[in-house]
Amino acid sequence: MKNTVLYLAVAFASISCTAQTQNQAQEETASTEEAMDFNVQKTDAEWREQLSAEQYRVLREAGTEYPGTGEYNLHFEEGTYTCAGCGEALFSSDSKFDAHCGWPSFDREIEEGKIIERVDRSHGMMRTEILCGNCGGHLGHVFNDGPTGTGLRYCVNSASLDFESE
Ligand SMILES: [Zn+2]
Repeated sequence: MKNTVLYLAVAFASISCTAQTQNQAQEETASTEEAMDFNVQKTDAEWREQLSAEQYRVLREAGTEYPGTGEYNLHFEEGTYTCAGCGEALFSSDSKFDAHCGWPSFDREIEEGKIIERVDRSHGMMRTEILCGNCGGHLGHVFNDGPTGTGLRYCVNSASLDFESE
């Protein structure tokens, strides 16, 4: 009898654990859908007309530019990096550092809420994709291996960015 109770307890524990995982997955999906409701809404044709081919590939198709080739990779002027899709300010030059990875890297967003994060399971990896919070344009990914106090490394495609010098 004791063994049966123990077995039931274990079985119940694993069921509730499974249920919790499913709930988390549902919440994740829900927040992703919510995040798709951006201020800037344009049709695919409008984006194609506005953006260069490379900007469109990165911002709208979550492409990645070849490392070391981007305009802002080794760019250290003072100013503000804005979204190439909608002009929203995303990063300050104060937060930029050379991560030696071939893409512009920042340790924080310019203001909380400017950037939206989404789980990215593509290419057999589990990464955190970053999107412009205003238009939903793909920027790159954020990693937890940053060398500064924030511990974050926002790895961004130059094609996703414009720059306004101070
Ligand atoms: Zn944007």
